[in-house]
Amino acid sequence: MSVLSNRARSLKPSPTLAINAKAKAMQAQGIQVISFGAGEPDFDTPQNIRAAAIRAIEEGFTKYTPVGGTDELKDAVIKKFQRDNGLTYKRSEIIASCGGKHSFYNLAQAIFDAGDEVIVPAPYWVSYPPMVALAGATPVIVETKEENGFKLSMEDLKKAVTPKTKALIINSPSNPTGSAYTKEDLERIAGMALSHHFFVISDEIYEKIVYDGFKFISMASLSEEIRKRTIIVHGVAKTYAMTGWRIGYTAGPEEIISAMSNIQSQSTSNPTSIAQKASVEALAGSQEEVFKMVSAFEERRNYIIDRLNKMPGVSCFKPIGSFYVFPNFSSYYGRSYQGKKISNSTELADYLLDVARVAAVPGVEFGADPFVRLSYATSMEDIKEGLNRIEEALKKLF
Ligand code: GLU
Repeated sequence: MSVLSNRARSLKPSPTLAINAKAKAMQAQGIQVISFGAGEPDFDTPQNIRAAAIRAIEEGFTKYTPVGGTDELKDAVIKKFQRDNGLTYKRSEIIASCGGKHSFYNLAQAIFDAGDEVIVPAPYWVSYPPMVALAGATPVIVETKEENGFKLSMEDLKKAVTPKTKALIINSPSNPTGSAYTKEDLERIAGMALSHHFFVISDEIYEKIVYDGFKFISMASLSEEIRKRTIIVHGVAKTYAMTGWRIGYTAGPEEIISAMSNIQSQSTSNPTSIAQKASVEALAGSQEEVFKMVSAFEERRNYIIDRLNKMPGVSCFKPIGSFYVFPNFSSYYGRSYQGKKISNSTELADYLLDVARVAAVPGVEFGADPFVRLSYATSMEDIKEGLNRIEEALKKLF
């Protein structure tokens, strides 16, 4: 009998977190690595949010809370959906978990069974397929194209749908491409979901990080029918620079939320009480810092896109949201450095780390090998230096 379960044996660590850890380990050894690795805002959590957490500790708010989060946090989430998306939810349709990832994981455990198919458009965030598979279901990968703005085409979606299709995952704005769906795009997808009776899991974690005045629309807000078929996964990490606090939340049909609560009650119990208090302040307090962070991201995006598109053989889609760029480096595949050939995104990312001292995530981890993901949730100074290094490293490939 083997020590590990089949489940554990087939699982590898999250590549985004693994690359982050590798870059940090190199930095700890004194190597000057520029990290475009994990999507983690470089800003501090805003002061009013930190103060709310300190207050919570000092007031002794350090015990168990209800499994799915306090009523205070649920009410702050409900108000956020009302204010930002025109959506009305009840407390029984909301659950708070330990991060957006945990929200997605519990959701997958609550609704997927062996035999279910889950449509995952590629490029996808690295952890969707493993989390679907951990719930016993089958991820069905549907490719999107750069020339279509990395958006799912209705023909491709239609081809992928079968009677076993339980859900479609959408992530708009997208990690890793920065593409985003308009209201009309979402209406087409909603039409398919309703006529083929599948759920839409809408990961809206990058909702606030949008550029050029793009108007974010939540899938659930399109109609009452689609709201009943949509589960929104969200969290405070990216909007409020709160990655370490681990607070995510889910909004959806009561039956699903209640099943997620049971799973949570048998596994983690409540998300951290102090982080919940901080999240109430994040969602309900001043949003001024968010605007400042988003405008810094937009400035960085403009710079990085311009630089990348000027590099010979590199092309890069202009992101509408999130804080990633997904340049196509495939014209360098087949070239060599000191006799060693670079054949794919993994080898290119290794080369960039070894030679340029720049950490980036290979596109293959997102289901798209021609590309490499760079997170620009890092300082402008690092972005400039990192791009200089990439440019120099690419010149050395023949
Ligand atoms: N979601 C972020 C990323 O893609 C954080 C790391 C992770 O959980 O994947 O980099």
